[in-house]
Amino acid sequence: MFDENIIREIKNYADMNNVPIMADSSMRYLMNYVDKHSVRNILEIGTAIGYSAIMLCSVHPDVVVTTIERDEKRYLEAIKNIKKMKLEERIHLIYKDAFDVSFDEQFDLIFIDAAKAQNQRLFERFERNLAPEGTIITDNMNFHGLVEKNLEEIKSRDLRQLVRKVKDYHTFLENHYAYETEFLDVGDGIAVSHKIA
Ligand code: SAM
Repeated sequence: MFDENIIREIKNYADMNNVPIMADSSMRYLMNYVDKHSVRNILEIGTAIGYSAIMLCSVHPDVVVTTIERDEKRYLEAIKNIKKMKLEERIHLIYKDAFDVSFDEQFDLIFIDAAKAQNQRLFERFERNLAPEGTIITDNMNFHGLVEKNLEEIKSRDLRQLVRKVKDYHTFLENHYAYETEFLDVGDGIAVSHKIA
């Protein structure tokens, strides 16, 4: 059984240490998706401290998650959390930059929750690892409402560039011939891209 107290501790740690983890509504959506579509083999880019990987494992005992994190402190915390939950056999944690990782394996679901500016490059890097009829889900598509704004309204140049990248990724997904993408207003905005070709 999943220990709710440990989950609460992980969420508290994230809160106290400014570690960004999935919003409750997005987490619920993702867990429902995994349940409804009998997803078993997941690749996650952006582990942070293991919260979402652990929650995904709670959906079904056969769910396995491969997850990549480049930040050492978060990676070490994720190891601790995965051990506490006794999920070492089901969560394969990789401490690397995702751009230095490559697999031959195929995944039913790829979940991109890393650096917003890298979404498109991450999509392009890992889509060859998506099983036929698999799905790529990307979080933070709304970028806290900033994508709704005109770029001229955003004063900081760096922020403007980041928002432009998120908008460009939206357009890239919308126009991709091999994927049908739904954009959902859940949490900070989720893109659900089904492979159709
Ligand atoms: N999925 C986690 C959850 O909900 O529990 C939250 C992930 S957090 C939003 C994003 C994480 O991605 C950060 O910890 C960051 O260090 C990591 N990250 C960003 N770019 C990365 C990259 N290129 N390779 C590996 N990890 C990356």
